[in-house]
Amino acid sequence: MMIELHSYLKGEWVRGRGDVHAAALVNPASEDVLANVSTDGIDFKSALTYARDRGGASLRRMTFASRGELLRAMSRAIHAHRDELITTAIANGGNTRSDAKFDIDGASGTLAAYADIGVELGDTNVIADGESVQLGRGARLFGAHMFVPRDGVAVHINAFNFPAWGLAEKAAVALLAGVPVISKPATSTALVAEQIVRIFTNEKLIPDGAFSFIAGGTGDLLGMLTGQDILAFTGSSTTAASLRGGKAILTNSVRTNVEADSLNSAVLGPDVEAGSDVMNLFINDVVRDMTQKTGQKCTAIRRVYVPSAMLDDVIGRISERLAAIRVGDPARDDVAMGPVATAQQLKDVSEGIVRATTECATVVCGGPKRIDGIGCGAAASGKGYFIEPTLLVNKSPSATDPIHTHEVFGPVATVMPYDGSSAHAAALVRAGDGGLVASVYSDDKEFLKSLIVAVAPYHGRITIGSSKVASQAIPPGTVLPSMVHGGPGRAGGGEELGGRRGLAFYMQRVAIQGDRALLVTVRGG
Ligand code: NAP
Repeated sequence: MMIELHSYLKGEWVRGRGDVHAAALVNPASEDVLANVSTDGIDFKSALTYARDRGGASLRRMTFASRGELLRAMSRAIHAHRDELITTAIANGGNTRSDAKFDIDGASGTLAAYADIGVELGDTNVIADGESVQLGRGARLFGAHMFVPRDGVAVHINAFNFPAWGLAEKAAVALLAGVPVISKPATSTALVAEQIVRIFTNEKLIPDGAFSFIAGGTGDLLGMLTGQDILAFTGSSTTAASLRGGKAILTNSVRTNVEADSLNSAVLGPDVEAGSDVMNLFINDVVRDMTQKTGQKCTAIRRVYVPSAMLDDVIGRISERLAAIRVGDPARDDVAMGPVATAQQLKDVSEGIVRATTECATVVCGGPKRIDGIGCGAAASGKGYFIEPTLLVNKSPSATDPIHTHEVFGPVATVMPYDGSSAHAAALVRAGDGGLVASVYSDDKEFLKSLIVAVAPYHGRITIGSSKVASQAIPPGTVLPSMVHGGPGRAGGGEELGGRRGLAFYMQRVAIQGDRALLVTVRGG
């Protein structure tokens, strides 16, 4: 059944005029059209005013504790509708059931984590930042800092790969900070996001104006943002550069956060033995990241560095595991990897593999050609955006190779040798020029310390896989609400989440100076 996707603005569900600027959403396994969307003719100016005035005022009247209760209700509502959301993610995102759970449970989990932070912050609506300091000669004149919610709206623009988590992880932090949200998912996979917002509105969970939703393009919205507004973007570096350069964004100093491309690396230490727990952890992480969500994860391992002496062994282990991955209809239980999300994605991934193999790498398994998916039926032959998990090897890596500069956003990774020293491994990792996450697998303390210190300025997060944590390690591709997410350079230069740290982006830190007792009255401590 064809769905007409709607936006939720000024407290009602609306759709743009006719088919102007309309886009179609498809099932990437069958290429069937599932929904149409258009925002043409929508009055974004009044939607912005409504969100700022009504939503902002309501949220600022609430304390952190009561905003936390709001997030808890949102989390529970998503969880209560988990099965229907999973069904939609399978149809519109090409997700397997397990991929869909990763997205949807990530959404409810992040909202719940920020609900807990709301409880911890309690019945106040300002956050004291550090101790007060004596400024005058006597013990009266003091200075102190505090955070207050910004007086605008947070515009959230998300990538296609996590329609549920992307919406929730940004909204959780903004709403807890006291800032109303206008959320825009990527159009191609917007069905899950629209369904979540319908759950919120049907259950009347969110104060009027505090959460708006755009299905489709943003029209003239970004050109009307002011210095109190906020833009948080996740997507490609090309789009990020164009949005960042927008006139209103630059002129009005709109606070902007960007999460973009990232060539995440995994380094196997020279001390790790074949068949050890750490080796198994490393292989599991690489194979999971190549195939989970069909490799369309911003945190997925793209570059795999292995001591030269272990190169063949590691290639053998990874390719053996990849050969067992069944690619096909993601609705089937016997399929481990679905299609990529769109025709454009398939084209980009194929071209990325061809570019890598033309310039510096060879194919170990997989390849750039589209394949028919298992279980799609004879009638679907030639349909669906399926591609095999593809392992490449680049035997003499250099910093200028496309492996170090071009993100292939699909089930593709490249194994490369290094000479076993932390200095050589660090030089290769740093060639990615800024990433979301790097993972290092070793028990050698000296190797770990020197490598981590050398690559840390280039990353938002580093995970260490060692024997003591091998049985309970959290995969590097999993973004946790308590840890910061973001990275410098190519990764966009942004920072999200990180527990309370994430709130600062949506709040104004202000220094106040005056009589000590009055400072205590204003900031509560
Ligand atoms: P994209 O093409 O850049 O699109 C991202 C978002 O920007 C979509 O919602 C898109 O909307 C919107 N957009 C595009 N042009 C716009 C414009 N002129 N004005 C306003 N909005 C605009 O990226 P994608 O293909 O969805 O995502 C893949 C990329 O995202 C990869 O490079 C990946 O590395 C990156 N990513 C990064 C992270 C992270 O956390 N660092 C997470 C996930 C993905 P439409 O869909 O309507 O065009």
